[in-house]
Amino acid sequence: MSKTADVSLQALIEEQLVPEVSVIDLEGHYPQSFLQALGAAGYYQVRNLPEWRVTERNLRLIETVSRTCNSTAFLVWCHLTGLSYVAHGESRYLFEHLLPRLESGEILCGTGLSNAMKYYVGLEPLKLRAERVSGGYVCDGILPFVSNLAPGQWFGAIAQVDDRHRVMLFIPCDADGLTLRERRGLMGLNGTATYHCHFERVFVPDDYVLSEDADALVRRVRTGFVLSQVGMALGLCGSAIASMIQLAQAGANRFLPARPEGFAERYERLRERTFALVEQVHTKAVAFPEVARVRLESAYLAMDVATAAVLYCGGAGYLQSSAASRRLREAFFIALVTPTVKHLERLLREPESCRL
Ligand SMILES: Cc1cc2nc3c(=O)[nH]c(=O)nc-3n(C[C@H](O)[C@H](O)[C@H](O)COP(=O)(O)OP(=O)(O)OC[C@H]3O[C@@H](n4cnc5c(N)ncnc54)[C@H](O)[C@@H]3O)c2cc1C
Repeated sequence: MSKTADVSLQALIEEQLVPEVSVIDLEGHYPQSFLQALGAAGYYQVRNLPEWRVTERNLRLIETVSRTCNSTAFLVWCHLTGLSYVAHGESRYLFEHLLPRLESGEILCGTGLSNAMKYYVGLEPLKLRAERVSGGYVCDGILPFVSNLAPGQWFGAIAQVDDRHRVMLFIPCDADGLTLRERRGLMGLNGTATYHCHFERVFVPDDYVLSEDADALVRRVRTGFVLSQVGMALGLCGSAIASMIQLAQAGANRFLPARPEGFAERYERLRERTFALVEQVHTKAVAFPEVARVRLESAYLAMDVATAAVLYCGGAGYLQSSAASRRLREAFFIALVTPTVKHLERLLREPESCRL
């Protein structure tokens, strides 16, 4: 993002997101109009941009939004990730008719790939089955969590056709046979329009098939998928460390062993490594374990920093409505969203488990 773009992003955040952070976190408000405003301002454009520029822009965008609200940053990630499936997929219909409307933010989308990502490291069987019929596929099964859903919106999913054949599909939320049940009562992230999706004989026409070879499409998009998630952790850590620095001299905080300077060093190193990886995407093939490693470290750092920041706030940080308590709940989400820390630890320790 250019300097000017940064400034206008900051202005959008101040005007449209800051006033909503509490209702997003405490009342489960879904920040749909802010997400659409980002698109209208050009932040979701991908056509005619080289891939590494898109990844870099996405990472910075998610990081900047996450400094204010990680739920919203996650929704931005959902949209950009779903959009990347259409941009890299093989459906001419979706590329020509839907992609421009996703880029402008007129239509929003999500990604239901957690189950598939777990399948690819041998953690789970695929929960969606697709049967070939005339003109498309018929899908049955479930996806336990998919966020950024609403009438008129779409999401990506992977379904098993047979042992050797998996298809990647783009599904409209209004499809016949698809039942969405909202997930509420979560520890955080209640404003993310997250649903349990039940597919019963859902017909997906050929036009909505992103790829007949889901494994190949996942190989193309997974670096951007995982690397841009690091933005959620970077933004959260940046604002949590800033809050600790402000409170460093307050009360007896100087006696606490966890120091903001130590976290700031870890954060800067991680940030540099992350952006260096983005540049490498441009110049050479990036080894996926390197991407997984920064993603894993980002989750651990987010939990460490968010925990220390609550201690720095003292009793005030224990209020449900405090930014410190919100960040603590958000940090656990970063560790529990796929690829989760368990998933990444397995991928790094048993690379042979990866089917891609
Ligand atoms: C608020 C929210 C929003 C989400 N949004 C999306 C979304 O938009 N799209 C999407 O695809 N997913 C979404 N998810 C799902 C998310 O990405 C993770 O997949 C999920 O939170 C972690 O699932 P897991 O425990 O199976 O994963 P892991 O911790 O990676 O578990 C790996 C495997 O171990 C098994 N396992 C884990 N814990 C236990 C246990 N205690 N006992 C026995 N077996 C266990 C699991 O079944 C799994 O097979 C969302 C989740 C949340 C909470």
